[in-house]
Amino acid sequence: MKKPKKTNRYCPFCKKKTEQKVKEPSSGKASTLKRGAKQRARLRGSNRGIGNKGRFSRMKNQAKGKRKTTKKTNIMYTCTVCKKSKYQKKGKRTSKIVIE
Ligand SMILES: [Zn+2]
Repeated sequence: MKKPKKTNRYCPFCKKKTEQKVKEPSSGKASTLKRGAKQRARLRGSNRGIGNKGRFSRMKNQAKGKRKTTKKTNIMYTCTVCKKSKYQKKGKRTSKIVIE
């Protein structure tokens, strides 16, 4: 999906249409100690040793995170007049955003 660097959009702070910069914020890194993470279960004492570990055994065989090829876009608009930023309401599914 191609996006222009600047667009004319409604700014809720200025309450009128202004020129706004388009930016894709970096997604950052996911925490390794999220709820339901294998590492977290290991710290608790489960998911160790031999035998069936229930849902933790199952996760081993599946290629986790390779099921979907597209992600919802996350675009930030910064107003050039008041310099306030706002995220888009609904992201559309694309594999890549190119801001030109
Ligand atoms: Zn504004």
